[in-house]
Amino acid sequence: MKQKTVAFQPHATNLFFHILTACNLKCRHCYIRQDQHGSQTLSIETIEAWLALFSERKKTANVIFLGGEPTLHPDLSRAVKTAKAMGYASVTIDSNGYLFHNILEKVSPDDVDFFSFSLDGATAPTCDAIRGEGVFDICTQNARKAADKGFSTSLIYTVSDNNIHELEKMPELLKDLGISRFFIQVLGMRGNSVQDPGQKQVNRETWTSLVPQVAREVASLGIGVTWPRVFLEEKDHFECAGLVADNFFVFPNGRVYRCPLCEDYPIHAFEIQENRLMERPPLHEGNFFSLRIPEGCVMNRLVQPANLRYTAQGTPAYRIACCLLKEEILP
Ligand code: SF4
Ligand code: SF4
Repeated sequence: MKQKTVAFQPHATNLFFHILTACNLKCRHCYIRQDQHGSQTLSIETIEAWLALFSERKKTANVIFLGGEPTLHPDLSRAVKTAKAMGYASVTIDSNGYLFHNILEKVSPDDVDFFSFSLDGATAPTCDAIRGEGVFDICTQNARKAADKGFSTSLIYTVSDNNIHELEKMPELLKDLGISRFFIQVLGMRGNSVQDPGQKQVNRETWTSLVPQVAREVASLGIGVTWPRVFLEEKDHFECAGLVADNFFVFPNGRVYRCPLCEDYPIHAFEIQENRLMERPPLHEGNFFSLRIPEGCVMNRLVQPANLRYTAQGTPAYRIACCLLKEEILP
């Protein structure tokens, strides 16, 4: 097993497709804002037209169906099968674990490469304090059920000050649930988190001393693990995915972002109008990506600067990596 930094792949397109913004939960750190992302549920015809838009652009695209809660969409199974038939290289469903509309009965492991579950604690009290009463039990039961049915399952853990203390307990739980990939995320200061003073990112010392160590332990169990780099060393090269990668974060109101940190603002680079992908006129997020600042990521400096530190001379003590730069260990 070898740890590697996942280089941005200019030839791979990743479509993060929010097919609706409705959700049965009210997570403390939810990044969905209906005033920015819309409140509509896309019709299956529109979903298929937008899938075609991105698969025509790049035949090897990956699609991740998101919401809100994507399994609340009654036609998710058809959308998944359409994506496969169009030749998407991989299809993932990111669920909060409630798996509405009997989705496990309507799709097969041939249709879905990964069922991804979001869980923000290794125990019910910690997870439910963030995601809501009863979520831990439902999510773990359904993750187990999906794995028992032969689906490859992954689990996303969004690390914050409120749950970092339980990260070390995750390897055992992942093994028990039959999870094959573990994604550690960093809390983004956007959506609900901006309004909630109790929601904080962990500091550099905690992140760098704990997260890679837990990741190695997870990998030693034969589970693939991916986590964001966040803090760059002096020797590391800084790159902005907005300039070198092909990621599209699509929302039901037609907004298409290239960078998740921009999603609270109407600065999306593209918009889907009449089923066509149109670049928006300046000023949009794309105009920020090329700005070179000593702090590294320019959007981090603008929207979540609390994770920066400065020396007595006023220079940054370290740079913040692109939020899309990941470390990975695969079995
Ligand atoms: S499950 Fe996802 S969409 Fe629903 S409230 Fe939680 S973070 Fe938001
Ligand atoms: S997080 Fe920063 S570096 Fe990454 S795409 Fe956004 S602006 Fe660029």
